[in-house]
Amino acid sequence: MTCRELIRRTAEQFSAAGIPDPVNDAALLLSDLTGISPLSLRLDEDTVLDYRVVEAYQSYVEQRLQRIPLQYILGEAPFFGRLFRVDSRVLIPRPETELLCEWALEVLRNHPLPRILDLCCGSGCIGITLKAEKPDAFVTCSDLSPDALSLASENAARLGVDVAFCRTDLLDGFATSGFDLIISNPPYIPSAVCADLQPEVKQEPLLALDGGPDGLSLYRRIIPDALTTLVHGGILMMELGQGEDAGVEELLLEHSFINVEIREDLSGIRRMILARKP
Ligand code: GLN
Repeated sequence: MTCRELIRRTAEQFSAAGIPDPVNDAALLLSDLTGISPLSLRLDEDTVLDYRVVEAYQSYVEQRLQRIPLQYILGEAPFFGRLFRVDSRVLIPRPETELLCEWALEVLRNHPLPRILDLCCGSGCIGITLKAEKPDAFVTCSDLSPDALSLASENAARLGVDVAFCRTDLLDGFATSGFDLIISNPPYIPSAVCADLQPEVKQEPLLALDGGPDGLSLYRRIIPDALTTLVHGGILMMELGQGEDAGVEELLLEHSFINVEIREDLSGIRRMILARKP
């Protein structure tokens, strides 16, 4: 069977199983095994695949049919121009979060030697990216999940980036006035919605998704604690769930944060918020 035919048949299976992007996924999985670009594979009428490749491909296809996310099968996900290892221990980095990093780098541009905390670091994508893009920063990544921390430290080592890791329950136990920037993509999906997520998202750790009854539980803990953990003039930046901007802005103002700014993601959703400690 040619590559083109194999991809066509697999895409049909994927499509029948309700997988959103069948041709893309079928081609990417084969590309991972052959090292040939997905587009070339889709056009390829000549290459005869080794049976070992076909067998390995069948195992990938089976996993995808179980709605295991493509990134977990491949074991990696791109983020801000780098590849991060991912598996079911961590949330898969999303493009929205790249925008949060971009904004943070803008804010840090004229700030030498900033001390940064990536809270709820998961794969470590935010903290590792900030350190790689701004090498004079001191970056700490923290998470409640020991599994996430072990994968995040593997990512830092593979990418050759020097950041510190610690296991904490949000900001519990951090010293007063320790950070110039606290940045976080906390779990923010309302608990009831978690039951109805896309099958792929349901394979991601619930701890990384569930934001409590109204989605705001973690912001309610982070915001008051950030007030003690940040230096004066320090900045708190967080990613937001859809429709959560007003609630989180109110919490920030209640706790006397100032200069609140909100930015949209590429779909026009008010996705991230920044505020300054007076
Ligand atoms: N910081 C990680 C990310 O943005 C993990 C976030 C999380 O687990 N909620 O992908």
